[in-house]
Amino acid sequence: MSNTDPQGLYKALGVQSSATAEEIKSAYRTLAKETHPDTSQDVSSDKFHRISAAYEVLNDPLRRAEYDSSAYQASAQETKKRVLDPICCSRCGQATAQPRYVVFFRVYSFIVITTRRPVQGIFCASCAKKEGLKSSIITLFTGWWGAPWGPIYSIGAILSNGFGGKHERSADEGMIWYNALAFLSRGDLQLSYALAMQSRKALDKDVAKDATKLLAQLEKAGADPRQGKLRNPWRTSMLYGAGHLLMAFALPGALALGIFASTQGSGASTGYGGSRLYASPPSSTTYQSSVQKAVTTPDVPTCTNVPYSGQLLGPGRLSTTDGHSLEIRNGSSGDAIIKVRAELSGAVVAAFFVRSNQTGQITGIPDGLYTVQYAFGDALDVSCRRFVQLNGAGQFPGTETLQTERTATQIITQVLSYTLYAVPAGNVAPHSISAQDFERQ
Ligand SMILES: [Zn+2]
Repeated sequence: MSNTDPQGLYKALGVQSSATAEEIKSAYRTLAKETHPDTSQDVSSDKFHRISAAYEVLNDPLRRAEYDSSAYQASAQETKKRVLDPICCSRCGQATAQPRYVVFFRVYSFIVITTRRPVQGIFCASCAKKEGLKSSIITLFTGWWGAPWGPIYSIGAILSNGFGGKHERSADEGMIWYNALAFLSRGDLQLSYALAMQSRKALDKDVAKDATKLLAQLEKAGADPRQGKLRNPWRTSMLYGAGHLLMAFALPGALALGIFASTQGSGASTGYGGSRLYASPPSSTTYQSSVQKAVTTPDVPTCTNVPYSGQLLGPGRLSTTDGHSLEIRNGSSGDAIIKVRAELSGAVVAAFFVRSNQTGQITGIPDGLYTVQYAFGDALDVSCRRFVQLNGAGQFPGTETLQTERTATQIITQVLSYTLYAVPAGNVAPHSISAQDFERQ
């Protein structure tokens, strides 16, 4: 059993559990291309689904955090049977008594493209402070230069990094309790006692109860309650916090103004492997009301076999061997259909489905000029290719030019990446289009 990959998700993608977000993404793209049911001859759709399921968890920093820290579960019973290793820091490799699972963010921007990359893992306090500072400094130099999200994300990332990164109390407490048992199994009763003191106040009631029991047993066995408190290594100095505040607000105040002024009107889209963020047009209130409408009309027969994210709806005009990729992350609360249309003829080159809160990707888009449209809905009709009723449709601004570059040694294709967010009054609104414009063939 691998302690760092309890369900074999990393193994499914063929990467180490220490892989970076980019390594995971590129492993997924390669494997998805090889095993996608539409492009692969042999019966590999099972494998494709396993890869997609693994990617769905590992591509989301918070779900990945939950998965990684779920590896550390033990019961007091187990400590009698075997010796448990205390948790080690993923950076320095040292055993650490009070680890945390932390996600730091680095922001990279280029004109209209802004990406936010997570750096995550189990950290000891000292490695975490170094990584927080490093991610913030990288963000300070690379994050601001994109409109409009560069400055917004950069401030958010630097502040989050400065306050210790993103971490979940429940995951931290789970690891502290695991360590209390690990040190118990190794005979270090005093350290086990100090950690159990912290676990006594855990959110998980079972852990709190077991910790209280363990403390009583350890006191009987000779642990000294007066030495029961550990120093908190996670406390940061004033200087550390002040440095991050300075990075977040001093430079950007001056720069942001300049960037906004100078990029007004230069919205040329050079979508090159970057991701752009757009707010989806249906506001949360109108969305709510149309959900209710749809629920009260149950007579219409609907699709029984709902497509997976990235599944093509109907015949497309995609290449099976090469071409560009389009990735849509649907952060809204409704399922979406995405259509890629040739700019000149308006013909649908590909239509695909993306479930709510999932990511769907297609590949094989030939060179050309395209517009990307989307629509939200509640239920698909019996054809499983269109919604019974549209809750809203829209089109991303501008035309995408996809052009394969061929050099002496490689062929470079593009990956377009968009995010749909149901943000009421979002500030970059793709324009909405009519249902007829969306349904047009
Ligand atoms: Zn470390």
